[in-house]
Amino acid sequence: MFILINHNQELPDFYWNAHTNMNCIKHAVQNSLDNAYAHHIQRLMVLGNYALLSMVNPSQVDAWYLGVYIDAIEWVQLPNTRGMSQYADSGLIATKPYISSASYINKMSNYCTSCTYNHKTRIESDSCPFNSLYWNFLEIHREKLAKNRRMKMMYSILNKIPIEEREKIKKRAMHIITTQDV
Ligand code: SF4
Repeated sequence: MFILINHNQELPDFYWNAHTNMNCIKHAVQNSLDNAYAHHIQRLMVLGNYALLSMVNPSQVDAWYLGVYIDAIEWVQLPNTRGMSQYADSGLIATKPYISSASYINKMSNYCTSCTYNHKTRIESDSCPFNSLYWNFLEIHREKLAKNRRMKMMYSILNKIPIEEREKIKKRAMHIITTQDV
């Protein structure tokens, strides 16, 4: 499991109470808790994406999905969460991690228009957490993922970000990962 070498963070409390300023997460969690159901994009590209980018222990992600969703039967759910969502099967199911910054969430939903965070920026105090987490994830896993042909374009963009900004991205991402104060 090369990709998850440092993925041992606790699942944030807001997966259980929806207490976060992140509008997309708040709605996806509340919807999941209220209905024991959520749209595929909410499961994969909001909740799974955030857990992967913030380096949550994949076993905790498995347990949350299995506990929350009414259609979560273990033999179906585990390949989806551990494989597709958390890329924790050494790439057996997915050929690349399902990760995105805020731009994809903004494209696929209307969450960002009423969020306290700015989906367009990376390092400001009100920048969307997905943005610093996304680029930080690519940096952390550069050695393995940069060789993946499907990731080449993202690494060419990352490489064009000035080194000083990459340092600030890392600092903001690590603050988010360690405090989950978002
Ligand atoms: S700005 Fe970021 S946190 Fe807020 S809704 Fe958009 S993607 Fe989610």
